[in-house]
Amino acid sequence: MDKAKTILKNIFGYDSFRPLQKEIIGNVLLKNDTLVVMPTGGGKSICYQIPALLFEGLTVVISPLISLMKDQITQLRQIGINAALLNSSLSSEEYKYNLESVKNKTAKLLYIAPESLAKEEILNLLLSVSVDCITVDEAHCISEWGHDFRKDYRQLGSLRKKFSSAVCIGLTATATPRVQNDIVQNLEMKSHKRFLGSFDRENLFLQIIPKQNPFEQTVSFLNEHKNQPGIIYCFSRKQVDALHEKLSALGFSTRPYHAGLSDDERNLNQDLFTRDEIEIIIATIAFGMGINKSNVRFVVHYDLPKNIESYYQEIGRSGRDGLRSDCLLLFSYSDIAKINYFIDQKENDSERLSAKLHLEAMVKYSESEICRRVPLINYFGEKYDNSNCGMCDNCLGDEKEKTDITIYAQKFLSAVKRTGEIFGAGYVIDILLGNDNDRILSNAHHKLSVFGIGTELNKKQWQLLVRQLINKELLSRDIEFGSLKHTPKTTNVLFKNEKVFGFIKVHKTSPAKLKRADKSYDTALFELLRRKRKELAEERGIPPYIIFSDKTLAEMAYHYPADEESFLRINGIGNKKAESYGNIFLPVIKKYCAKNNIKEVRAQIKTNTTKNHQPEKRHTVIGKSFKAGASIDRLAEEYQVTKQTIVRHLAKFVDEGNKIKTESLLNDLSIPRDKQQMVIEEFSKESISSLKPVYYKFNQEVSYDDLYILRIIFKSGNL
Ligand code: ADP
Ligand code: ZN
Repeated sequence: MDKAKTILKNIFGYDSFRPLQKEIIGNVLLKNDTLVVMPTGGGKSICYQIPALLFEGLTVVISPLISLMKDQITQLRQIGINAALLNSSLSSEEYKYNLESVKNKTAKLLYIAPESLAKEEILNLLLSVSVDCITVDEAHCISEWGHDFRKDYRQLGSLRKKFSSAVCIGLTATATPRVQNDIVQNLEMKSHKRFLGSFDRENLFLQIIPKQNPFEQTVSFLNEHKNQPGIIYCFSRKQVDALHEKLSALGFSTRPYHAGLSDDERNLNQDLFTRDEIEIIIATIAFGMGINKSNVRFVVHYDLPKNIESYYQEIGRSGRDGLRSDCLLLFSYSDIAKINYFIDQKENDSERLSAKLHLEAMVKYSESEICRRVPLINYFGEKYDNSNCGMCDNCLGDEKEKTDITIYAQKFLSAVKRTGEIFGAGYVIDILLGNDNDRILSNAHHKLSVFGIGTELNKKQWQLLVRQLINKELLSRDIEFGSLKHTPKTTNVLFKNEKVFGFIKVHKTSPAKLKRADKSYDTALFELLRRKRKELAEERGIPPYIIFSDKTLAEMAYHYPADEESFLRINGIGNKKAESYGNIFLPVIKKYCAKNNIKEVRAQIKTNTTKNHQPEKRHTVIGKSFKAGASIDRLAEEYQVTKQTIVRHLAKFVDEGNKIKTESLLNDLSIPRDKQQMVIEEFSKESISSLKPVYYKFNQEVSYDDLYILRIIFKSGNL
């Protein structure tokens, strides 16, 4: 393992292992078969690449896509590792060269497509050298239960048998337990170990807003992400083309990608994107497989995805380098109807039902008011119970003070009943608003007692109310037809005086202004380095992110390394890259520092640099600033959020065990001292992971704002 650590540092340039990497590598080195399920960007490649360098013999890597293999090989060659590729797309000269490098053992890794393994020539080649490891990338392709079954993967089991002394590794980013079992069985991994990584991608900011003027909403989002690479997913080819035309007319650097384009055009557009020649790809779901670009900074879902798996995969294409990336979904009910229409075309009953259930889960996720990560990560069977992730709209959004909305709920629920529980939200809202349109007139619903009794709220507010009633299971919505129905709980509100609390203020129709607290690095220098990287990439005909990831550039723009030794301390720079690029990037940094009179911020020892210059979470930055004396008002102004949001951040900071001085917080409390004391006492009685019980204990008379502050005070041990 010591050797593995040295390789990690000197060759890959990383200070420390990511979660599970060490355990996985240890297991592989012991030649125990290994199954790894880890989300995209989790760092799976190193798990077989480091052992490959330590094994005597060859590591064979089976991968389904030529583009992925080529990308990997370019990356490896950049850090001085010789890897071979055998594929029909190579010229005969290249092919020979690669073949030779396997034969004479200069290549430690051989990348190959599964179908090539059926060739006798290849099999004989492998039998003639010693194979120590067989790695199956995208291992879910082996299972018919996976979403991407490939026949050629099926024969890998028999191949495996021929190399009984080789250890076998299966890698995938998506595998239900059923698919996992399929992989293990097919690859005949007898005594194996499984490593399941967390599905939480902490650096993705998740945001969902009601789709109202999607084009303007998108433009406003893009304006917040100037000069950044990103993907916009649309439902249809037509939509892709239309959006591409409109956005490029506004000067955005976009290209379309969908199955209706020729292969050449698609490849070209993808290539331009990978090379940072254009910024934005507008695409259908056809885009994504085989994209290794690590610096995708945002993903916009212009239309609703069909299911959570697709959504998760698509947002997962951003932020592989670990830097913050923004994921925005525009949510609308008409999209549900559109998807339903397509689902209805399916002939097979069980397929149709399954698709509807998947869609329903997606809708539920979108409408949820709690931390986005809870339903998302729970969906994959993993528990997530952090009270505030700090990286989703619901955790950071405007303060949502709940109010008593019982009256509105009753009005709406009655109207649903009076109209026979067969209409959708829009229709019922029209009745409450007293809109006597043709449909209502022909149903004689303008004569109902509920007609026109809801004019105190506007249409948007009613829509918001409906979503909350559904979330609280006071209403159910037929996923197929959109009609609303009562549930067993409805009577409590209509007849048993049960109160309903919720929001009636409509907010968040434009994407949150993304003030980036995590940009603690020098953005001006970052830009210069980015340009230099692009220049180099063009010169050498490789994608920019292969030279250095955005994260590595960000670290340079934080530490301002002054010499090669400091350069080597930067995370993501190993010996080979320091040698190839030090004399190109260091002068840029030097010149910039001289001009701006900046001194190097020397990275400590490399082992703890990851923590040091990984952009800190916002609540940590805010917590530290507060500790250092910044007032809540000042922080609110600095981050352009409300004071309440700052308090929420501080709460999280304190939740993580940090102590802060709390005197200044007392001024922000609106309840008298004795009441404060009572709340604090309550905290010491209750387990205080959630404020809700306390809120109700005090009959909702103490606001959440006060509760948050008091809990901070309680946890910090003051008052
Ligand atoms: P996956 O195959 O799981 O999607 P990769 O192997 O492509 O992920 O790794 C994602 C990114 O993380 C790559 O840029 C990789 O170089 C980087 N990475 C991997 N391991 C580490 C580590 N221990 N420290 C820092 N960065 C790492
Ligand atoms: Zn959250």
